[in-house]
Amino acid sequence: MFCLMKCSKKVLAAVAALLCCGGMLAAIWQTKEVLGSAYEDLYPDMYVNTGSEFAKEEGKVVYYTFDDGPSKNTIAILDTLKEKGVKATFFVTGQEVSGVDSDAILKRIVDEGHSIGIHTYSHVYQEIYSSVESYLADFHKIREKIIQVTGVEPKIFRFPGGSVKNSFASPSVQKAIRIEMRRRGYIYYDWNLVSGDDKSYMTDTDTLIHNIVNGAKGKDKVVILCHDDSMRVSTAEAVGPVIDQLTAQGYRFEKLTESVEPVQFQNDDEK
Ligand SMILES: [Zn+2]
Repeated sequence: MFCLMKCSKKVLAAVAALLCCGGMLAAIWQTKEVLGSAYEDLYPDMYVNTGSEFAKEEGKVVYYTFDDGPSKNTIAILDTLKEKGVKATFFVTGQEVSGVDSDAILKRIVDEGHSIGIHTYSHVYQEIYSSVESYLADFHKIREKIIQVTGVEPKIFRFPGGSVKNSFASPSVQKAIRIEMRRRGYIYYDWNLVSGDDKSYMTDTDTLIHNIVNGAKGKDKVVILCHDDSMRVSTAEAVGPVIDQLTAQGYRFEKLTESVEPVQFQNDDEK
């Protein structure tokens, strides 16, 4: 009888241990699910530490940003920025434009003290937004290129088409991408001023200057969206007048870095 009781206790203890262990395993599994780390095994080096606090911003500040380069227009923009002593932000792609030394332009962006961020490698919406895995593969490709060419590890990025309501991305896929990129430490920057150079034709220079200078009115923090692909000559031509006119209105120009609190479109990631 004594032995039976002792044995039963041992069996009960073993069963309890198993149940406890099972519970722990279930808890770990649930935690992984909640954290959304289904992509943890992909690109284990693709994490950045962007800190937890943003710098305090004072006064009227403009962040001039250019997407889709490098191209010959990037060279013209860099020339004007150098002449004016202004720093800007370039969200670059991996595209190769004939007659343009993309690597030299990427290096020049960094050497002249501007910010370099990731836009995408391919800029093909249907591919990059087809799944989280596809987005990560493209992001990894352009990240590697930037590091290899410039020696700088990019920590900021911009989604082609913006971070929400992208016409080529399903809301659930884009939300999963946002959550995954945030988990990896990267910060994305949308914008609060559209220059109007995103048409299928080239917008004329005066219209761009007018759009930007008027669009800045009433804003203390301005993030201007521009495009420096090969077609947009007027975007480069507008840079000098925009800097002069906004400076005259009391703005200073800064570049985006991971310590700048981002302007981001409203999303439902917390729900
Ligand atoms: Zn773009």
